[in-house]
Amino acid sequence: MRPCVRIGILLAGALCLCSPPASPQAASGADDRVDRIVATAMAGGGAHAFLQRLTDSIGGRVTGSTECRAAADLLINALRQAGFDDARVEEYALESRWQRGRATGRIAAPVQRAIAVGSYGWVPGTKGEVNAPLVDLGAPLSAIAQVSPDRVRGAAVIVEPHATAGEPAQVMRANFAHALARSGAAAMLIPSGKPNRMLDTSAFGFYPGGPLPVLSVAKEDVLLLRRLLASGQVRLTLDVDNAIDASAAQERNVVAEIAGTAPGETVLVGAHFDSWDPGQGAQDDGVGVAAVLEAARILKSLGIKPRRTIRFVFFSGEEQALLGSRAYVESHRKELDGLRAVVIMDSGAQTPRGFQIHGRADIEAAARAILAPLSALGASGVSLDASFDMDHGPFLADGIPVFTLWVDEGDYNTHHHAVSDTFDKVDPRMLALDTAAMAVAAYRLADAEAPVGRRLSATEAMQLLKSVGLESLRRTVYAPGDVSPADDERR
Ligand SMILES: [Zn+2]
Repeated sequence: MRPCVRIGILLAGALCLCSPPASPQAASGADDRVDRIVATAMAGGGAHAFLQRLTDSIGGRVTGSTECRAAADLLINALRQAGFDDARVEEYALESRWQRGRATGRIAAPVQRAIAVGSYGWVPGTKGEVNAPLVDLGAPLSAIAQVSPDRVRGAAVIVEPHATAGEPAQVMRANFAHALARSGAAAMLIPSGKPNRMLDTSAFGFYPGGPLPVLSVAKEDVLLLRRLLASGQVRLTLDVDNAIDASAAQERNVVAEIAGTAPGETVLVGAHFDSWDPGQGAQDDGVGVAAVLEAARILKSLGIKPRRTIRFVFFSGEEQALLGSRAYVESHRKELDGLRAVVIMDSGAQTPRGFQIHGRADIEAAARAILAPLSALGASGVSLDASFDMDHGPFLADGIPVFTLWVDEGDYNTHHHAVSDTFDKVDPRMLALDTAAMAVAAYRLADAEAPVGRRLSATEAMQLLKSVGLESLRRTVYAPGDVSPADDERR
């Protein structure tokens, strides 16, 4: 294909990020525009520069915090400077805000030793120091069957929630937390999966307020605790000081758009600017925000006028329960029939492979055709893999065709939600490639002659979620404290 050869040449020069922008070509058609989008993304470095401002000047951005507010302001300013006079915030109600306090853990017996612990988000503290016996439930298959009140009452309980058929790990985690709280446990201890005594955090299944203290414990310390437990009783001292504030509050999404020519038709391109606080929220999801902002600036600077409006949406509240994207779906419900596709980046800046379309086999052929020009970047792949733990989830549940940027895993899971999620982990070349993939996908989906696919009915969307094993996670996100269908059946 002729354009691919040209993209290949531009890319070869741009990969070192040292070549000047490609000279403008005659805009004789769509393929020329794809070439120019890619060349600008690869040569400009705009996403990486914005990411440094976001992460170094603001840092971690917990939903409801002043840092999260500052990030929204930074985005609005950047969009207005790029000529998006319509850049605006859309507010929604937050049910609660959460403040992290100190979290310390010590082995009190049979030895005295500090252990590395960190609190999950939106869970309460211990209300002062507690001294509790340690119980290890291992990695049970069911929250309901395995939590016996006699065994866990008053105890600090190690549990390893893991995915089972129809129950993603986040569902299992929330179900265990509720089962342990009902049985009077003092705290739930989750072994961190990360190396080098790094800790994890999350609030999925806990917002607007978890039922008991939930702590991440360093993998190495869990191994020590288990060695000690093998020879007798172990007692821990825990002191966790979190604050949950349920007074009325608002959070904001940031929205801007490039108007299309087809009335009422839109393609949404988004990422979330809230993050966790131990690190800088660089890979999750500063890179997505930077790529979407840069995609907006590139498409605007090239004067592209697509068939469908491209709406750039920067969500907050993702880390709690997809709050920003859920609020967007509710406040724009009347426009959803005209929302032709949603494109989200939230898996870190790594080598792009293409897009995941979350079980929508009916749109696979059209998606492959629309995304084919990304083959020169190695990013024209289409995967049916499905997930619900990013901002595409609420749109998937409402039947809209969704695309999430599919990248190599790289070291994403090591730094995800950890203290090490910092700016230095981001490779500028990968971020530029991902920016190019997002911008081209946005343009191609918005400018395709026909929409990539239809909106599913509510019944069809529900059937799709069930068929890919994600309906229990949707319920956990939308109705925390609820039990999963699998647990209903066990009762
Ligand atoms: Zn994320």
